[in-house]
Amino acid sequence: MGLLIRNADIVNADSRSKGDIWIENETITRIGENLDAPPNAEVIDAAGRMVFPGFIDPHVHIYLPFMATFAKDTHESGSIAALAGGTTTYIEMVCPSRNDDALEGYQLWKSKAAGSSACDYAFHMAVTRFDDRTEEQLREIVADGTASFKIFLAYKNFFGVDDDEMYQTLTLAKKLGVIVTAHCENAELVGRLQQELIAAGKTGPEFHEPSRPESVEAEGTGRFATFLENTGAAGYVVHLSSKGALEAAMAAKSRGVRIWVESVLPHFLLDKTYAERPGVEGMKHVMSPPLRDKRNQKVLWDALAQGFVDTVGTDHCPFDTAQKLMGAAAFTQIPNGIPGIEDRVNLMYTYGVKRGTLGLHRFVDAASTRAAKLFGLFPRKGTIAVGSDADLVIYDDAYRGRLTAAAQQTNCDYNGFEGMEIEGRAAVVTVRGKVQVRDGKFVGERGRGRMLKRQPAYF
Ligand SMILES: [Zn+2]
Repeated sequence: MGLLIRNADIVNADSRSKGDIWIENETITRIGENLDAPPNAEVIDAAGRMVFPGFIDPHVHIYLPFMATFAKDTHESGSIAALAGGTTTYIEMVCPSRNDDALEGYQLWKSKAAGSSACDYAFHMAVTRFDDRTEEQLREIVADGTASFKIFLAYKNFFGVDDDEMYQTLTLAKKLGVIVTAHCENAELVGRLQQELIAAGKTGPEFHEPSRPESVEAEGTGRFATFLENTGAAGYVVHLSSKGALEAAMAAKSRGVRIWVESVLPHFLLDKTYAERPGVEGMKHVMSPPLRDKRNQKVLWDALAQGFVDTVGTDHCPFDTAQKLMGAAAFTQIPNGIPGIEDRVNLMYTYGVKRGTLGLHRFVDAASTRAAKLFGLFPRKGTIAVGSDADLVIYDDAYRGRLTAAAQQTNCDYNGFEGMEIEGRAAVVTVRGKVQVRDGKFVGERGRGRMLKRQPAYF
């Protein structure tokens, strides 16, 4: 068998070339002009189309118990949504609560994905408590191929760690050579501001943003950076949303701190007025950090174009309308999150590349290659090269459409980007050489996905 992709316009993060791609046993084994294929090979003509390395979403939630409910996707629905949107690998956050056993949590999260995901996946392990037993378990989890941690400075008493636990987590990470991803908001300030607002009768979703203002995120980001600086660990700020936080990260970087930055799709395209819409429409746009004042969007696009924002993820986290309404009486009870796994690539391409704010190669880098490099997946993932997994996206640049919940694969009854136009989508998506999507429709094999075991990167 084997798969030959002819006449590809191959676009990597650092190169562009025309040629054929030959795939055997899940792997790219030859790239060149006018390659021969055996008579029984499958042949796809990509003439006139760009072919990208499969896109990587470095930050998703699929299985997630949160605020007394569960996010709506399974790995089956979430992976099909990812693939429909050109994402061939995602990294899921394993998020046991502070009272749970870390290793039991890890096994539970793994069991939810095994045999269920249609695309490849990996995990970040959340450290929600640090003690001797947890340390031992974290060593075991890293040895199992999950070579990155996640900490929350927010969500006190649930996911959150205090400064001493952050110090211990970073010290262990430094020893093991793993990178630590961090949700950077000051938990005490968020708690106090929430109390004040609710006590003043300010209970609607429009008060979510004022309860966690930009300064609270800047403080968290600066503190995380200071702890990285003093432990020598490598860190990655997740879902950075505002100018002050970016400045805190960049100031640390210029001092030599090993810090990288992710922003997530909603913050590039939506602003806080979405959460100020009345009733459930506002609740659909409640996430943390919250949607910000619009002036931050240009800051993020510019930083992305320059590579100061390294990656774009989604923080995909679908709660449906009924779940959002749990917060009808108080914004503090609204499950935080918004779906996005399906729309990230097409929206970045449309509003970044097509609008001239994001270079084509930086787009590939931010949506695939850099995450692969930071999280120990490169060059297996994140590039089109001989020896790499044959995860490919043949892109239909001429496609025009509008996003709508009615047509999405994600298991959620709304789309936070409802009605937005997209200019381009995947015509063909392969996972290790198997065609999984054609023209936005899943046509492949369920449960094909594998857990990607990663080595510590020793930055
Ligand atoms: Zn998240």
